[in-house]
Amino acid sequence: MASRDTSRKLRVAICGGGIGGLCLAVMLSKCSHLDVQLYESAGQFKEIGAGVMIWSRTWRILEDMGLESEFAKIAHAPPTGEMGIGFDYRRSDRPQEGFRFKLVEMPYGCIRFHRADFLDVFINALPPGIVNFGKRLVSYSHQAIPFSTPHQPISLQFANGSTSACDLLIGADGIRSKVRAQMYREAAKARGEPGLLDHINPVWTGTIAYRGLVRAGDIPRKEDGTLHQTIERPMMYCGRSKHVVSYSISQGGIVNVVTFASQPERYGEPYQEDWVVYCDKQELLDCYAGWEPEVKQLLNCIEHPTKWAIHHLLPLPFYHWNGIVLLGDAVHAMAPHQGAGAGQAIEDAFILARLLSKAMHPTRDGLSALLKAYEAVRLPAANGVLGGSYESGRMYEFDDSRYGEDYDRLGPAIERQWDWIDEVPLEQEVETAFRIARKEGPCLL
Ligand SMILES: Cc1cc2nc3c(=O)[nH]c(=O)nc-3n(C[C@H](O)[C@H](O)[C@H](O)COP(=O)(O)OP(=O)(O)OC[C@H]3O[C@@H](n4cnc5c(N)ncnc54)[C@H](O)[C@@H]3O)c2cc1C
Repeated sequence: MASRDTSRKLRVAICGGGIGGLCLAVMLSKCSHLDVQLYESAGQFKEIGAGVMIWSRTWRILEDMGLESEFAKIAHAPPTGEMGIGFDYRRSDRPQEGFRFKLVEMPYGCIRFHRADFLDVFINALPPGIVNFGKRLVSYSHQAIPFSTPHQPISLQFANGSTSACDLLIGADGIRSKVRAQMYREAAKARGEPGLLDHINPVWTGTIAYRGLVRAGDIPRKEDGTLHQTIERPMMYCGRSKHVVSYSISQGGIVNVVTFASQPERYGEPYQEDWVVYCDKQELLDCYAGWEPEVKQLLNCIEHPTKWAIHHLLPLPFYHWNGIVLLGDAVHAMAPHQGAGAGQAIEDAFILARLLSKAMHPTRDGLSALLKAYEAVRLPAANGVLGGSYESGRMYEFDDSRYGEDYDRLGPAIERQWDWIDEVPLEQEVETAFRIARKEGPCLL
């Protein structure tokens, strides 16, 4: 029977402590054969003041981590296993009251959180001695070693002049990933494929988003005294080249609002200003001036909106290179129209952690087999969601030439966009990853 080389621990460095990096650190910290270190450029963990939604697939991973009761305390509403509302799609870009054109339901529905609360559960689950703050990775290099050495350590260089070493570097450093940039520069050179450089910089989708949080109690009731319906369920208010998403979080006390305004013809143009800025409330109100009262009531309650330029990555052709691997937004930053980027980062962490938890030897070949297996499972899945997410945005804005405003066909098409949530069970993906790794050689227990 295969046994593990226990002569030394495999040193794993995670660069970036966002949702993806933190989740992975929690999972790997349970493996006694790994020495895990997380390097975060900021002085502390932080998330923006906004909501985040996840779907049943991600919830099952949180259950697998044994964290479901902690997440249930902060979820709105904690899933019961029953069907729930995903989104209530409504035509809203006219001054008169709008109308529903599709209600999408799914197992567990849309599970919503305040981002800071979400991150805190991972932070609290992290054992001491793993996190290194103030460590902005600027570059990495492979240490020169004799040919016979079975592993090739990686040196990490940080902006403050310090260095560190690891056997495996995981880049979880977000949409503007330094690790991705170096990996793709080196691969482009080594493979003589300059086209790979196109994957370094994120592409502006032509969409601007405005974000804000609203106290549920501040949203006016309807004339008949009923509550604004977004307090009851996640709403997708749709209009020509624009849409507005809103859902309640924090036990229903807060409503998260994100509005989108698109100029698809500008897709790929360089975005010259800062990607995230504060903006005037009036700019937001003007953008949705002709919309139904329900939307205007909501937007009126946002005091200090922020304005975001929505970028995504061109689907990456590989997720690992030369012993370095990417995870989360670093590898598949996507438009947020399926509320899936964080969930996909958690799925990356899940598959990678399952493989590493069974890693037999910290050798170059052994690691390479695991990374191949990770990529084989995660690349098609995450790149699929990346593409689908962008496409969904076009559909919500009646901008998909296949359906336009034909609600009878558009509604079911929007619903099908969510099929990925329960198409391939997670355990099946784990088995596929194990099978692929084993085919590469004896690398797993
Ligand atoms: C408007 C909007 C709404 C969204 N809504 C949802 C949603 O509802 N559901 C969902 O699943 N997703 C959503 N997303 C996407 C989601 O926010 C991201 O996919 C997710 O947060 C990515 O996590 P990450 O850990 O990969 O990256 P990040 O959160 O970007 O974390 C990267 C971390 O790395 C650190 N870092 C960066 N560079 C370095 C370096 N050189 N060295 C060391 N550390 C470094 C950063 O400080 C940061 O802490 C939304 C996105 C947007 C824009």
